[in-house]
Amino acid sequence: MSHHDERTFVMAKPDAVQRGLVGEIITRLEERGLKLVGAKFMQIDEELAHEHYAEHEDKPFFDGLVEFITSGPVMAMVWEGADATRQVRQMMGATDPAEAEPGTIRGDYGLDLGQNLIHGSDHEDPGSNEREIDLFFDEEELVDYERTDAVWVYEEE
Ligand code: UDP
Repeated sequence: MSHHDERTFVMAKPDAVQRGLVGEIITRLEERGLKLVGAKFMQIDEELAHEHYAEHEDKPFFDGLVEFITSGPVMAMVWEGADATRQVRQMMGATDPAEAEPGTIRGDYGLDLGQNLIHGSDHEDPGSNEREIDLFFDEEELVDYERTDAVWVYEEE
């Protein structure tokens, strides 16, 4: 594994799908130099929603969150790159779009905490990226390949 092989789980949430922002989200990540290694356009059911958001089970917003995330299709993805988890979080912006910096995905497209467009694994919760990838993808659904422009993104292999 070279230093740029970190994988992270990213999801364009139902609001991003409904608003036609899936392409924009993918564009931002791929133009940054991150490599798409898995993608699944899917409907999340109650059970998967509960598993994915298990850490929030006791929070007052949990039921609303489950309702939202199961309200329509999502695009689940795995992206790979140097420091990928933290870098994607920076590109997402603050959890509440009202607080997110302009230039971030939430800061450019969102206004409401309950509909904040994108999920990314938490870099402050080590292992959350691998856990989430395992929850949504089988290993054979992830593709091993090189992007030809990697030599222009990373100075060293
Ligand atoms: N959320 C919400 N109300 C809140 C806090 C969170 O609806 O008061 C939702 C929101 O969609 C958020 C998700 O719960 O993205 C998970 O919360 P977390 O704190 O893990 O934020 P994230 O990691 O997504 O930035």
